[in-house]
Amino acid sequence: MTAIKHHIPDAMIAAYASGNLPHAFALVVATHVSICDECRAALGAHQAVGGVLLEHSDHVDVSKSMKSDLMAMLDAPVRPEPVYDARGVYPGPVMEALKGKAPRWKTLGMGVKQSILSATDSGSVRLLFIPAGQAVPDHSHNGLELTLVLQGSFSDETGRFGVGDVEIGDEALEHTPIADAGDACICLAATDAPLRFNALMPRLLQPFFRI
Ligand code: ZN
Ligand code: ZN
Repeated sequence: MTAIKHHIPDAMIAAYASGNLPHAFALVVATHVSICDECRAALGAHQAVGGVLLEHSDHVDVSKSMKSDLMAMLDAPVRPEPVYDARGVYPGPVMEALKGKAPRWKTLGMGVKQSILSATDSGSVRLLFIPAGQAVPDHSHNGLELTLVLQGSFSDETGRFGVGDVEIGDEALEHTPIADAGDACICLAATDAPLRFNALMPRLLQPFFRI
């Protein structure tokens, strides 16, 4: 595997370690950590610190609100966990989200396909399939977008992203990712708000594709 150049920011790994990341982003973090030694070490460090804090808090009374927080957490979707023996295009957490089955691709036009893994009010996460040389329509973002490359690579205004690399887009980023030559580019993409497409057609189609 080529060396990973674009990692998960430390603050996001900390949020993941403490269980404070929306499910869609947690799946991207768990998947990246599955294939990145550097972020795996960072996660281990955060989990060690979290463990120490827990050990020193056992004399604290468990308040009613804390109990209800715990009950709410039990109802929440299970946090995706890294799987360290991941092989193939889809690392363990993605296979888990796919329930071991092949992705159910829906075409977006121009050979671009998506397979939605989960979509809720707090965000959505999907697989994107982009043929070599094909562009994803120019768009900007209402919130945060995490894009993790699982196969092939893409380039946009900010740089080149290969297998394992994560691009983080926010309100300030307007970009047109284009899959590089070679293998089709397959990405895991998570957003906490709908993307804003700048051309009319994609905007009209947006409600149908829940991008
Ligand atoms: Zn990393
Ligand atoms: Zn984007």
